[in-house]
Amino acid sequence: MGEKIYLSSPHMSDEGYEREYVKEAFDTNWIAPLGKNVNEFENELALKVGSKHAAALSSGTAAIHLALKAIGVGEEDIVFCPTLTFSATANPIIYQNAIPVFIDSNKETWNMSPEALEEAFEKYPEVKAIIVVHLYGLSADMDEIVNICNKHDVTLIEDAAESLGTYYKGQHTGTFGDYGIFSFNGNKIITTSGGGALTSNKEERISKARFWATQSRDQARHYQHSELGYNYRMSNVVAGIGRGQLKVLDQRVEKKRYIFDYYQKELGGLDGVQFMPSNDWDEPNRWLSSLTLNGRVRPIDVIEALEHENIESRPVWKPLHLQPFFEKYDFIGEGVSEELFENGVCLPSDTKMTDKELKRIVEIIKRLWSR
Ligand SMILES: *Cc1c(COP(=O)(O)O)cnc(C)c1O
Repeated sequence: MGEKIYLSSPHMSDEGYEREYVKEAFDTNWIAPLGKNVNEFENELALKVGSKHAAALSSGTAAIHLALKAIGVGEEDIVFCPTLTFSATANPIIYQNAIPVFIDSNKETWNMSPEALEEAFEKYPEVKAIIVVHLYGLSADMDEIVNICNKHDVTLIEDAAESLGTYYKGQHTGTFGDYGIFSFNGNKIITTSGGGALTSNKEERISKARFWATQSRDQARHYQHSELGYNYRMSNVVAGIGRGQLKVLDQRVEKKRYIFDYYQKELGGLDGVQFMPSNDWDEPNRWLSSLTLNGRVRPIDVIEALEHENIESRPVWKPLHLQPFFEKYDFIGEGVSEELFENGVCLPSDTKMTDKELKRIVEIIKRLWSR
């Protein structure tokens, strides 16, 4: 059996940037949930994505939670959320005792269908917020979605956890909505081991998020609290890793695209294979190279064949409206997300892979077509 190949694993810079920033935190004894690395990471991230302000937090989930709180989402409020996503997109809706309504994908983007979203407004005219996701680094159709949000005067949160480095018509994903959220979990395109960020162009939104994230301490010498607080701030050590990783984000995107192009060239001609969609307005980061299989070879065949050779791959996200925990909530759509789940596979997309390893992977996959 060959060496283990991961779906997407942490990849520190060859230059050792991360170590330098972490060392600085140690040398100055800033082993704390605030400090220079946190401030600079916020500035550098905001600059990179073209947002005015950013708050570095303990996770992307925390960022979604604070965005919902800032919008005032509470008991019994309705929030539209894509069904084809990781559960972390929807969990904070429940933290706020609100009600998710799950929206289907369309085939053109794999992301939130503008048609299904309009349909959802017919059934639920009173909506507090919309969360849109850019799945696997493909951007949703933002012009359409922003238009619909404006038409109905609803606040938009962009879950860009998987799309750092993805642009829509030249603008970075996560900057179209009122709030953007990013994740630096271990499997994301860059990582701080665990962490997240909330971005916005409005300063007061971000300073309020920082306030809540540090236990809502009022200005006072004694500990005084007039609001519920959270311990959601990123640590100064972790932010040092993030600063180093930001320096290699472009390199990582380049390698992810290389991996995708390699798979597309080698596997694109096989019967039933269709790669994730490309739209001319999209500059995807290709976080995970994904495809659908509509022929004799099924996703499970690919996943098992790779697993047998110590190589990690996985199905496309199981839609949230099919999850035992979420199935009691409403779903609006035609079943496109179910189809993507049934037929979709995410191929190994680790940026540390060599050409030799890529070759090994496509050979294993191609063998399934010659059985
Ligand atoms: C990873 C992820 C999150 C959650 O981010 P964490 O930093 O792990 O909390 C949210 N949404 C999507 C789509 C993700 O992939």
